[in-house]
Amino acid sequence: MTWTERATPPSANRNRMQEASCIFCRIVRGEIPSRRLYEDEEILAFHDINPLAPVHFLIIPTSHIASMMDLEEEHRTLLGKMMVLAPRLARDHGAGDGFRLIVNTGRVGRQEVQHVHMHIIGGGEPLGSMLPRPRS
Ligand code: AMP
Ligand code: ZN
Repeated sequence: MTWTERATPPSANRNRMQEASCIFCRIVRGEIPSRRLYEDEEILAFHDINPLAPVHFLIIPTSHIASMMDLEEEHRTLLGKMMVLAPRLARDHGAGDGFRLIVNTGRVGRQEVQHVHMHIIGGGEPLGSMLPRPRS
């Protein structure tokens, strides 16, 4: 059977399979508990389970997008909303003095959970340098 004969193309099937097991999709569906800070139809924010600073939360799209590498033009508004939400939540949850926003992406970015997420990290003393400088 070719994919044109199926009801849905293989990429849609693959996406559904990923959604079923994806830990962040499971959090969106309430199958795994989380400490939520914000939610609407498109966006969920919750505390990171293993915080790296006094304030460390994640902002994710409620739809499954595996990585920044998968972003398309259609995601422009959604990503913009996530970006605008970050300082608002940071202010409301104890990181009004600044924060670091990190989006680990792919193998080189050492992304562990394959569902796009922004880390918002702050709330204490200034953070360490962004990355150790390679020795020359
Ligand atoms: P990354 O390395 O950018 O993919 O980061 C994944 C982040 O997800 C890590 O900071 C984890 O601590 C966090 N994390 C994994 N599982 C959970 C969970 N069930 N609830 C909240 N945060 C989680
Ligand atoms: Zn997912």
